[in-house]
Amino acid sequence: MPELKVEVDGGLHALSNCAWITWAPCGCPCGALTAAFGDDAFATEDQAWREHYPLKRDRDKYQRQGYRMELMSWERYRSEVDLAAKCPHAKGKTTQQTLDAAEAAA
Ligand SMILES: [Zn+2]
Repeated sequence: MPELKVEVDGGLHALSNCAWITWAPCGCPCGALTAAFGDDAFATEDQAWREHYPLKRDRDKYQRQGYRMELMSWERYRSEVDLAAKCPHAKGKTTQQTLDAAEAAA
């Protein structure tokens, strides 16, 4: 298979040197998909969505919730994205729920 190139992050990169990052609605990264490996290539956002969520109803659900995918080079991924970092927003939500529960109990 000829090597596919994409223009991303202001330069031309081999698709195999790129990844689709899934962003949660709060703005935190929550997944990564290598854009090309072996005979598989995911050159468009739609192809990446289909690979992550084969079912249309799942894609619709996550897209409605505000999830999005972004293609970036592994270079940029390594310098900007930390999938190991815990989402601070979900934790804030839990705290608020705990406060609400405490208030309701008072
Ligand atoms: Zn978050």
